[in-house]
Parts: sequence; C-alpha cells; structure tokens
Amino acid sequence: MRTSVSIVRCPAYQEEIVYQKIHEAIDLIGGIKTFVSSGEKVLLKPNLLLGRAPEKCVNTHPLVVKAVARMVREAGAQVLIGDSPQLDSAQKACDKNGIGDVAREMGIEIVEFEPRDVLNPQGKVFKSFTIGTVLQDVDKIINLAKLKTHSLTMLTLAVKNMFGAVPGARKGQWHVKTHIAGKEYFAQMLLDLFYFVKPVLNIVDGIVAMEGKGPGFGDPRTLGLLVAGADGVAVDRVIAEMVNIPVDQVPVLKVALRDGYGIGKLEEISVRGERLEDVRVPDFKLPPAQDIFAKIPLPVVRLLKACLTTHPAISKEECEACELCLRACPMKCITSENREIKMDENECIQCLCCMEVCPRGAIELRPGGLLKFFSAMRRIMGRN
Ligand code: SF4
Ligand code: SF4
Repeated sequence: MRTSVSIVRCPAYQEEIVYQKIHEAIDLIGGIKTFVSSGEKVLLKPNLLLGRAPEKCVNTHPLVVKAVARMVREAGAQVLIGDSPQLDSAQKACDKNGIGDVAREMGIEIVEFEPRDVLNPQGKVFKSFTIGTVLQDVDKIINLAKLKTHSLTMLTLAVKNMFGAVPGARKGQWHVKTHIAGKEYFAQMLLDLFYFVKPVLNIVDGIVAMEGKGPGFGDPRTLGLLVAGADGVAVDRVIAEMVNIPVDQVPVLKVALRDGYGIGKLEEISVRGERLEDVRVPDFKLPPAQDIFAKIPLPVVRLLKACLTTHPAISKEECEACELCLRACPMKCITSENREIKMDENECIQCLCCMEVCPRGAIELRPGGLLKFFSAMRRIMGRN
C-alpha cells in the first residue's frame, strides 16, 4: 500500500498566500474534490486545545482554517468547525484564537461535541469510545492539526489532534485508564480512535510551529511549512523525519509501525512538493524531559524506570492561582489552599493535562533523583 504526503513552503500568515499554498498542498495529493463532494457536510477539526491568541502558536492558525473552509465551499460542500477543548467550549476557544472571527465572517457554525457512546469493532485494542456526536453526523472530517512538541507524546500532529474527538474532560479518563500500561498503550488508544473517526484529509500547520515546552507553552518556531496527506500516520511520519526525531521516540509512530496502523514506512510514502532533504530541521527543540531521556541509554531507562520518572511541578513564582489545573486534573490530586496550589505526587499519573491547560506555563517536568544524577554524570564526562 502506498500514499502521498505533500510538503509546501508557506512563508507567512497572509490570507491569500496561505490560501494559495493550502491549495497547492491539496492539489499535490489529488485536489479537494478527491476528498469532498458537492452537497456533503464537512467538519473542520482544528487544534483548539485552549483558546490562545494566534501568535502563541497553540492552536491551528485561523487563516489555515479559513483557507480550507474556502476550498471546501468551492467544492460545493457545507462547512462546520468543531473541537472539544479540555475546559472551554469550542465557541469560547474560537473567540479567543481568531477562528471565531473567521466563522462569523464566513457564516460557519461552530459546533460543540455532545457525547455519544460508540462501538469500534475494528479497533485493534480499544473497542468502544465516547466521541462528539457531530463526528458521526457529518459526511467527512478534515483534520487541521498544529505542528507542536508534546511533553507526553513527544509530538502532537495529525493523529494526536483527533484526541479532541473525545468530549472535554472525558479525555482525562483516558489518561487514567491507560496510565498503568504506559505511553505506548495511550498511543494505541490514539490510533484506534484516529482510524475510527477517520478524517479524509489531514493538514498540519507548520508555518509557525511550537518547539520546546509544548503543547501549551513552548516557543514559536518559524518553519514556513504546510504538510498534507490522506493518511494521518504517513503525515506524522514525514514530519518526524523532517524535525529529526527518531520513530522510537514518538510513541504514536512506534506503535503504528509495530502494530500496522496506517502507512508509517517512509518507502511507502511518496513525498510531493518540497523534498524531505530540503526541509529538514535538525535542531528542533524537544520537550525538556524528553530531551533528558533521549540522552540516556534505553536499557538503563527500562531498568531504572521507577527512579527515572519525571513529574510535574508547579513554579510558585509563575503560578497565578487561576485553578484551571485543578479542573483539568483527572485524579483530583491538585488542591488550592489560600491561593497556594499543591500537587499530591503519590496520586499523580503524569498525564500532563494540568500542563496543557496552564495559561502561565507554570507547570514543568522535573526529573527524578537518578535522572538528575545521570544527566550530571554525562555533563561531567563531556558527553552532552
Ligand atoms: S497533577 Fe497533572 S499530571 Fe498529575 S494527574 Fe493531575 S493533571 Fe495529570
Ligand atoms: S493552571 Fe497554572 S497558573 Fe493556574 S493555578 Fe494551575 S499552575 Fe497556577
């Protein structure tokens, strides 16, 4: 089986340029009419995580959403926009990040994800989900992800973006359920969910990406790139290659290749538009904790896992006691007393939902004792 992924350069968030470049990216993989037909109802699913201003690079940029909405309309289809952020409604998140203005200007409805229980008999591991009703009521879904790092999943791209299909705080329950079995089990859930919801087209906004402390508080990094493809795993695989992150450090890709989800082998992906070798980003900054893990030999990590785990911690200087992390924590292990926010480390499952929602970037991953020791040893031995 083969698939195509297009890579197109897009220098800036300027409306007509973004529209032309999105057009080019979709044309390279068959054109919009390959994916949607006249008269269909099409849901655009951007990354809304939390509503933040476009320059923060947390969400899919409104001009990317607008360009795709224009193209879908030109194909004669009806457009809806929807997602289910952790805490806000989709409408509120869109009002904060500029997608609300696009929706008003174009007369597009923003839909909230009301929960519906569904069976997933084709799932390799997860046979049922609760997802947003509208995802089953539309004819097609177009996945509009943002290119970002993620402290739990290393990268958040096309596959991870569809975790938004699970309504609001229910996402936390998945973290609880998959915690004991670890990151790869969580990745398996993401993949089963992705191929159940099955967007027909995946576009990743890497015009200004986020590196470092993603997905909520990393640094904007201008890459000037858009990536598009029909298969989410293939899109993610090409991007991981582009930003120089080995597959075994990205749980979604590692599991996809191991268990046969999507098309993850580079030799089965036709890259169109820019050549991969011309768009590589060798120095893309990883999330801090992943960076530390990446420098330690894997067998040692496995052997000493308990001692090497990182844990989230709150910076008192940065915290403004907004209590959003309390609402997001599925384990209810964050408390507030006289505006002092505390975490119970014994109860924490390290899902990092708190980190995702913190508007101040006040939650960071701190390494456990042995992890610090190994990092210090490597520095002393000059093997940074
Ligand atoms: S404290 Fe943060 S990382 Fe730990 S369980 Fe709660 S939300 Fe998840
Ligand atoms: S979300 Fe961030 S700023 Fe708000 S209380 Fe939690 S740590 Fe503090």
